[in-house]
Amino acid sequence: MAVKGRKKATRKPKPPLYRVGRAQTGLGLFAAQDIPERKLVIEYTGTRIPTWLARDIDRRRANKYLFEIDNRWTIDGSVRSNLARYVNHSCDPNLEAESNRGRLMFRAIKPIAEGCEFTLDYGEEHMELYFGKAGCLCPSCVEMAKKKKAKKKKR
Ligand SMILES: [Zn+2]
Repeated sequence: MAVKGRKKATRKPKPPLYRVGRAQTGLGLFAAQDIPERKLVIEYTGTRIPTWLARDIDRRRANKYLFEIDNRWTIDGSVRSNLARYVNHSCDPNLEAESNRGRLMFRAIKPIAEGCEFTLDYGEEHMELYFGKAGCLCPSCVEMAKKKKAKKKKR
């Protein structure tokens, strides 16, 4: 059966919104062009598994790519094709996660300039599991720690 209304792919593909690059700690995902606020940047893809099962897996061997959508579904984003897994944590993020019918999208919550790293607030539970006692090492927390130290020195 013929497919109606489908446009011929004659136009050039759109330039990519993101690229993987070297971040402060390992790899990160960076803006490959200026991104306006509210823009959908990338989908967090992977295998959809029931959340009860994901919690069980996480207890036995921590998998930091498990992203819980809700009480029913969790995405295991450890697949290589899921570039959204390179988005690092920040307590002052420029993306937010948004679930829509079982899919997970990362949306810009502020304008992001080309070359800037995309970041997301992964929440307290994630922080405790993967940063432990060292605390958060995201740029905004490192900056805050520096300021605290400087204050102490003055006294
Ligand atoms: Zn932080």
